[in-house]
Amino acid sequence: MQPVKQAALPFHAPKDHGPPVTDHGPRTTGDEPPATHDGPRTKYPGPIFVRHARARRYVVSVREDGGVRVTLPRWGSMREAREFFGRLDGWIERQRRRLEADRRKMPRVPDTDRRGAMERARRELPVRLLELAAGLGLTVAKVSIRNQRWRWGSCSPRGHICLNWRLVNMPAWVRDYVLIHELMHLRRLDHSKKFWKLVAEQCPEYHAARRWLRENGRSL
Ligand SMILES: [Zn+2]
Repeated sequence: MQPVKQAALPFHAPKDHGPPVTDHGPRTTGDEPPATHDGPRTKYPGPIFVRHARARRYVVSVREDGGVRVTLPRWGSMREAREFFGRLDGWIERQRRRLEADRRKMPRVPDTDRRGAMERARRELPVRLLELAAGLGLTVAKVSIRNQRWRWGSCSPRGHICLNWRLVNMPAWVRDYVLIHELMHLRRLDHSKKFWKLVAEQCPEYHAARRWLRENGRSL
């Protein structure tokens, strides 16, 4: 659940296959990223290029700290990845501005409330996640509860799901949508139409849940 842009055009599979990819999650390509691409004025680090066995397209995402990650499919080339990334300058800039604006708007939760909610989150969220996973026949490698201010959850290629403790302050049906969203990333790591179809099958009210998060998420 972070700003993500995927290559829209059907990139052809190039002859250059890049380094071998194992099932041990993402790895860097070994190629040096274009360090000067962002220009010397930027306060953000250069993009990170990661090759991923399960990625089906080139994917550019902006992390909550404003850093950019470019995911290459197994057959992807650094040249095409850079080309795709280079075309998204304006989009990346807009996402960073939006993230900064969100950060300024986010209210602070008092520390005592936070500790209690964090404990409740550690007790309740992994249990519910694993319950849903079992019902779907999915295996979660690891669950962590995090104090992520700008994301509700994340799923790593190795099946490690991180959940925001603030999920315990949501209505159950909205919380379940976020859990299902992350679980469906065990099947697909992107936000493609196919991914949303998987989500819709398990959580038909997902549009309403996303709307709820947009409208109420910041006050949690
Ligand atoms: Zn997602």
